[in-house]
Amino acid sequence: MIAPKVYFTDMRCKVGTSLLDKLDKLIMAAGIDQIDFKNKFVAIKMHFGEPGNLAFLRPNFAKAVADRIRLLGGRPFLTDSNTLYVGRRNNALVHLDAAYENGFSPLSTGCQIIIADGLKGGDEVEVPVEGGKVLKSALIGRAIMDADIFISLNHFKGHELTGFGGAIKNIGMGSGSRAGKMVMHCNGKTMVNQEKCVGCRTCAKYCNESAISFNTDKKALIDPDRCVGCGRCIATCNFDALYPPFDGSADDVNLRMVEYSQAVLHGRPHFHVSVVNQVSPNCDCHGESDAAIIADIGIFAGFDPVALDKACIDAVNSAPVLPGTALADSLGHEGGRLGGSQQGHSDDHFHSIHPGTNWRSQISHAEDIGLGTGEYELVTID
Ligand code: SF4
Ligand code: SF4
Repeated sequence: MIAPKVYFTDMRCKVGTSLLDKLDKLIMAAGIDQIDFKNKFVAIKMHFGEPGNLAFLRPNFAKAVADRIRLLGGRPFLTDSNTLYVGRRNNALVHLDAAYENGFSPLSTGCQIIIADGLKGGDEVEVPVEGGKVLKSALIGRAIMDADIFISLNHFKGHELTGFGGAIKNIGMGSGSRAGKMVMHCNGKTMVNQEKCVGCRTCAKYCNESAISFNTDKKALIDPDRCVGCGRCIATCNFDALYPPFDGSADDVNLRMVEYSQAVLHGRPHFHVSVVNQVSPNCDCHGESDAAIIADIGIFAGFDPVALDKACIDAVNSAPVLPGTALADSLGHEGGRLGGSQQGHSDDHFHSIHPGTNWRSQISHAEDIGLGTGEYELVTID
């Protein structure tokens, strides 16, 4: 088999040449114009950043991609699904507020924003998982499935649960509806923090399964036999008293997330762009972004999301560790591989910083089910 090409451009910009020009040149070199965009709805799946986080991709990157899609005749929109956890992106209203606050608007990006799974994360489509080994179907935000063409625009960084967050994470976990995200987090049952619960009973009104009752102290109780793990109650609680269990092994989450990516992509044109800058140790879902663990590397693009992720992983793992970062700290704590100087280099930055994670299961399972391949040919564009 011929390895798919992954196209790369670095962060250097000669005077008069913007990185956005380089991004446009990159995606054209990678063949985005091979897709027939004429009058097609094009979902550009991205992450608008949790307010407080500053590592998320700037809206300028989205505009460059959307502008090119428009020139090719497409009708682009930016999209993401609501989050499962409590935060400022767990329903469409606060999610849009967060996107605007972080600079995403029709003015800055040249296209509209649609929250894919609707107001409360329940607007979903059940999609078969072609070749799935863990799941038969996936619950995906409707607007993402309604689009004719899918583009992922990914910020590549570390991730506390999945090892790294790249194309597969943005596509799979990021496209799942609230119930879909619960499935990926192992079909767990929602939990109640009894100390935070004030007994307002709002959550019970939104539970289709009558799984929520109240004890004599008026605190919510969830019946695990009735709860189907849909997660719909979580966003209804204004007191942060409901939370998902997140008790699955990191590998199990990775496998399900890969199969969700397969459901999103199978049977329609797709293309992927990853920006490897501000490589923070954790997800952009955090309301903070710790210092980048390596220097900015560049932008990668291609048709195979697995090859793309693997190219980004290899580039990050080849980069020297920046001193004074969480990665340098973790290497020092792991046995002083930095020799005290913090000038050293780990073989696997992702595992070093989050030892409980295993990013390799994303790549190997993606290969197993035919989502893509971890092999690639890197083509550098000036
Ligand atoms: S919505 Fe929250 S605070 Fe109100 S009863 Fe449910 S868990 Fe308790
Ligand atoms: S997760 Fe769904 S089924 Fe379970 S208590 Fe919440 S709303 Fe009800």
